[in-house]
Amino acid sequence: MKILLHACCGPCSIYPLAQLRRQGHQVSGYFHNPNIHPFREFKRRLAAMREFADRQKLDMIYDDDYGLREYLRQVVNREEERCRICYAMRLAEVARLAVAEGYEAFSTTLLYSRYQNHGEIRRQGDELAARHNLTFYYEDFRCGWQEGIGQAIAMGLYRQPYCGCIYSEQERYDKKMRKKKSGISVTENQKAAAETGEGQESGTE
Ligand code: SF4
Repeated sequence: MKILLHACCGPCSIYPLAQLRRQGHQVSGYFHNPNIHPFREFKRRLAAMREFADRQKLDMIYDDDYGLREYLRQVVNREEERCRICYAMRLAEVARLAVAEGYEAFSTTLLYSRYQNHGEIRRQGDELAARHNLTFYYEDFRCGWQEGIGQAIAMGLYRQPYCGCIYSEQERYDKKMRKKKSGISVTENQKAAAETGEGQESGTE
């Protein structure tokens, strides 16, 4: 299948790309992540993505506009729901481009992360696919978590210390907030993570 793979970052792309190629799919990547802040972090992850894609000879489309304003317009005053909104803003754009460019299917490296709300990503992907008469390629890439980390380290690829948005950056480093959070799940992600016994603050998305 000709698949447009949404790539949230270089390290998270390693396992899904290898897996899709092993299965004989023709994969192109799309870096569209208005959720990565602040600006220098965005640039750093974009550079790591380029480094990885070049090494893998992965055909890529890059949205290199810094999307802070676009992201905040959708999330402010709805911070508790921000992960659902964040998935939606990225996946909708990937589905749109997949249709415009004649792909049969789209997918996302978010399905690799143990720290995302996997069920919600799948639900949104299926819904977009039905709306656009496309296939959402679903696979639980989380089984390749350690393999992906090992390869990212071996490649010397930049691995980010927090999910992406300025809220997740605060949650990662603000000691007061971390204390508060130990009693309350702040985001939908964290609720999902709590249900599966996973934490959110370990590094890559
Ligand atoms: S925590 Fe991650 S998934 Fe959730 S809104 Fe922030 S960047 Fe998006």
